[in-house]
Amino acid sequence: MSFESLGLAPALLRALAEQGYTDPTPIQAGAIPVALEGHDLLAAAQTGTGKTAAFSLPLLQRLSTTQASGKHRPRALVLTPTRELAAQINDNVRAYAKHLRVSSTVIFGGVGMGPQIQALRRGTDIVIATPGRLVDHMQQRTIDLSGVEVLVLDEADRMLDMGFLPSLKRVIGALPKQRQTLLFSATFAPEIKSLAMQFMQSPQEVSV
Ligand code: AMP
Repeated sequence: MSFESLGLAPALLRALAEQGYTDPTPIQAGAIPVALEGHDLLAAAQTGTGKTAAFSLPLLQRLSTTQASGKHRPRALVLTPTRELAAQINDNVRAYAKHLRVSSTVIFGGVGMGPQIQALRRGTDIVIATPGRLVDHMQQRTIDLSGVEVLVLDEADRMLDMGFLPSLKRVIGALPKQRQTLLFSATFAPEIKSLAMQFMQSPQEVSV
């Protein structure tokens, strides 16, 4: 199995080669073709399995091959439980997007709102956020989520364990119904299945 055979664009293949990746991990091999077809995806994968690339690569391919609607609103939203994960995902996304015209911004708590507000005002394609701080931005009307085409829920089980369900519901309620949703979780516990039932459309399941 190669990255080429998964259907990824040349600009992404070049970035992967530069990262020193030769072969997709099992979660990447399972998830990338499903996500590229535009399906909702429920993926079971632990940290360290390469799950970040499994959602970032199809997301970047979609944003780079389709046109945004006029205004420079975020087109993709990645929700993750901690600021460390948010920062790490942003680093990975930027490395994979090196040869694309796609930008990303990270939003998390414990730091000032000002620089985040400025970054959002300048315009960004991808927002990578922790749920609590994202809700703060929604309340202050400093983020416009009406253009989001792809939602990623990363480490969904951990977000629920940390009590983020009300924030998740609030954020997802502000997103367009017509979108692609990719959910990654270490387990498919009943609460995860329930999230999927509420917020996803006929998701395909991939587990490794
Ligand atoms: P993650 O599970 O997304 O946190 O990824 C774990 C680590 O594996 C990260 O340091 C990635 O840069 C690295 N990684 C992801 N995919 C691959 C791959 N296909 N080949 C080699 N390393 C990878």
